[in-house]
Amino acid sequence: MNVVARAPGRVNLIGDHTDYTGGLVLPMAIDRWTTIRGRSGDGEVHLRSRAEPAAVRFGLPVDDPPVPPWGRYVAAVAAELGDSARGIDGTVESTVPIGAGLSSSAALEVATALALGFDGDQLALAQLCQRAEHRAVGVPCGIMDQLTAAAGVAGAALAIDCTSLAITPVPLPDDVEVVVVHSGEERALATSAYAERTAQCAAAEQIVGPLRLASVSALAAIDDARLRRRARHVVTENERVRAMVAALADGDGVEAGRLMVASHASLRDDFEVSTPALDVLVTRLGAVPGVLGARLTGAGFGGCAVALARPGALTEGWVVRPVGAASLA
Ligand code: ADP
Ligand code: MG
Repeated sequence: MNVVARAPGRVNLIGDHTDYTGGLVLPMAIDRWTTIRGRSGDGEVHLRSRAEPAAVRFGLPVDDPPVPPWGRYVAAVAAELGDSARGIDGTVESTVPIGAGLSSSAALEVATALALGFDGDQLALAQLCQRAEHRAVGVPCGIMDQLTAAAGVAGAALAIDCTSLAITPVPLPDDVEVVVVHSGEERALATSAYAERTAQCAAAEQIVGPLRLASVSALAAIDDARLRRRARHVVTENERVRAMVAALADGDGVEAGRLMVASHASLRDDFEVSTPALDVLVTRLGAVPGVLGARLTGAGFGGCAVALARPGALTEGWVVRPVGAASLA
C-alpha cells in the first residue's frame, strides 16, 4: 500500500517556555511541511531523507536505538506505537528548516507516526509524539510543537491551554502577516539549558504552586533571585498570551506587536534564553517601518525570530501562513 503522510512545522507567535508548566501558548502550523512517501509493509522501517546522508533502517519491534541520529526520532515513534507500528520503505522530504526553532523534529515525529499506522485522534497523536521526543533525545518538551503539527487550523493561530489541552483557533487579521527571519546562528546548548529551565520552573512551583495560577506578587515568596525571574517570565508570559488573543480578536495589530516585543524582553532578561544575535535581529526588525513587533520564537539559544508586520513591510525572511493539520493520504 502506498502512503503519503505529511505534517507541518510551526511558528510560535507568543507564549514560549510556558507549555511545560501547563500554561498558555499561541503557535500556528505553517505552510512548510515534512512529507513521507513510501510503501507500507511488514517488519521493517527503511527511510531515506533528503536532509541527511545516511538512511535509517531497523526491524520491528524496534530494540536498539538506530544510527544515524535522526533515526532516533523515527525509532522512538515506532517504539511508542508498539505492536501497532507497521513497516515502511520510503523517503522523507521537508521544507521545514531544520534546527531553526520551527519544529522540524515534531513535524518528523507526527509524519512518521501517521506513516507507521497511528490510529487515533489529534490529541492522542500529539501526546504519542511528545513521548517520542522525550524518548529520542531526552528533551522534557511540552506539548506545543506536536499538538500544533497534529491539530493546525488553516487561517488561524491556536490558543492552547496546556493544562486542559483545549485549543481555540484565533484567526489572524487581514492587515498583518507573519514573517520568520533566521538569526544566522544555529541553536547551541539547547538541550541542557532547556532541561535546566524546566527544572527551575519545577523548583519555583515547589514554593508558589502551579505557575499558571500564580500572580506576580506571589513570586515574592521565592528567595532565589534567579528562580524568581524565571517564574516571573512564565507568569507574565501567560498574561501576554491572553492579551495577544484579545488583541488579535480585536484586529489590533499594534497591541499584538507590542506584546511580542515585551515577550522578547522577558525571554531575554528573566528567562535568559536569547542570544546577542537574536537581540540584534529583533531590534533591527522592530525598527523597520510597518513592523508591529518581533521576538525570538521557540526555545531560544539561536534559531529564528518571528515578526508581525503589515503586508510587504519586510523584504527579508519568509512570510508564513497558517495551515491545517497533519494528514495521511
Ligand atoms: P527543530 O525542531 O527546531 O527544527 P530540533 O533540534 O528539535 O530542531 O530537531 C532537529 C532534528 O530533527 C535534526 O537534527 C534531525 O535529527 C531531525 N530532523 C528533522 N527534520 C528532519 C528531516 N527532514 N530529515 C531527517 N531528520 C530530520
Ligand atoms: Mg524540535
